Amino acid sequence: MNKNKSVAVVGAGIVGTSCALWLQKKGFLVTLIDPDSPGSGTSSGNACTIADYACIPVNSPSIFKRLPGLMFASDSPLTVDTKYALSHLPWMMRFLSNCRPSRVARISRILGKLLLKTHEGLDPLLEFSDSKHLLSQQGCMYVYKTEREFENARAANQVRRDNGAIFSELDSGEIRELEPGIKSSFVKGLLFEQASHVLNPQSLTTRYFDCFQKNRGRYVKQRVQAVLHENDGVKILLDDGESVDADRVVIAAGAFSRQIRGTGEHHLPLDTERGYHVQYAGMQSLLNRPVSWNEAGFYATPMDEGLRIAGTVEIAGFHETKNPANLNYLIRKGQEMFDLPERPDQEWLGFRPTFPDALPVIGHSLVSEYVLYAFGHQHLGLTLAGITGKLIAELVNHEEPSHNINPFSPRRFL
Ligand SMILES: Cc1cc2nc3c(=O)[nH]c(=O)nc-3n(C[C@H](O)[C@H](O)[C@H](O)COP(=O)(O)OP(=O)(O)OC[C@H]3O[C@@H](n4cnc5c(N)ncnc54)[C@H](O)[C@@H]3O)c2cc1C
Repeated sequence: MNKNKSVAVVGAGIVGTSCALWLQKKGFLVTLIDPDSPGSGTSSGNACTIADYACIPVNSPSIFKRLPGLMFASDSPLTVDTKYALSHLPWMMRFLSNCRPSRVARISRILGKLLLKTHEGLDPLLEFSDSKHLLSQQGCMYVYKTEREFENARAANQVRRDNGAIFSELDSGEIRELEPGIKSSFVKGLLFEQASHVLNPQSLTTRYFDCFQKNRGRYVKQRVQAVLHENDGVKILLDDGESVDADRVVIAAGAFSRQIRGTGEHHLPLDTERGYHVQYAGMQSLLNRPVSWNEAGFYATPMDEGLRIAGTVEIAGFHETKNPANLNYLIRKGQEMFDLPERPDQEWLGFRPTFPDALPVIGHSLVSEYVLYAFGHQHLGLTLAGITGKLIAELVNHEEPSHNINPFSPRRFL
């Protein structure tokens, strides 16, 4: 394919803007299409971690064992809307079937290998968009309240290590020394010393977008309804009745990607794990780095504008109503760990794009070589956006992908 051919990217979250920049770096003319401000969706409210150590999917054997307790406890990081789950039973069954140890071992291996490429995809974009100052390199930490929590996580931590994560163990004194702002005591911890976090994920996507526009990028502020296939390209139909023609289209609309017709969407079991954050303005000095109370299912992250407590998983579909149980859980847990005001300054809900096997789709669709997929990054979209963009640009440019993308093929769902 010649340079200066046109590529449309649907969705201007962190994954779409990363694809757009990588495509521009390869010389393509790129149009980004999104009805909302770039990066204002799920990509804005996450826990900010570049979690290149986090190869274990949420649907793992330990979750399966704890499932009944988690589902029915009043104090739980997991909530399931039973009505929604029952009406999406095939997805739930597939999600749970991937909790089997052999499946988790395979998924962790695949994710682990991709995660090792995180910085190959991310760093050139930070450089290109002049955003290096938004990355803090203080590491990330997991903490465990009891010896039992730590023992429960031992097998998973070994899998992390086997798949390339580098970390050291901490005792309670070392945790206190590194993070004196944590008021409650934790007996054990892990320090992922080489990990990093983004000080503001919304600002990062905005900078990517500004860089995109400076490099002749075209932005169309519209919702895409459908993709039509033409002889040598695609016609992208918009909400306002207009259309965009392009030689290739990359679908990067996160959890909403399946709503775009004509893209082979029917056979893709994409759903959402809803997640929440609460944020305390000006309280970021309580921490030096993101700290995850692993068993409690959340991160506390120091950002440029405050302390963010982010996490929980809610299976309840795409409606916009926030569940107070999830928000109150984060508020309670945050207060257990830190001296925080009674109410946060911000409460937020986002939609993780999740396939039952916790792997994204990266590559050509099965309907047409002109349609490419870049979505389904579940808990790791901020981390994996850069490498996803790089792989997509290589594919569009007819290069051999620099990483094996076979495990991310949509063919696995046939
Ligand atoms: C609480 C929480 C904590 C998280 N923590 C982390 C973390 O620490 N580290 C990490 O790596 N990941 C984390 N994640 C996951 C990460 O945030 C997501 O995987 C990532 O944001 C997905 O990015 P995206 O660009 O695919 O989707 P989105 O950010 O959802 O962007 C999709 C875009 O597509 C647009 N769109 C939708 N439909 C259409 C359409 N029809 N036409 C045109 N545009 C459309 C939307 O408007 C949106 O702008 C977390 C997620 C949550 C919820």
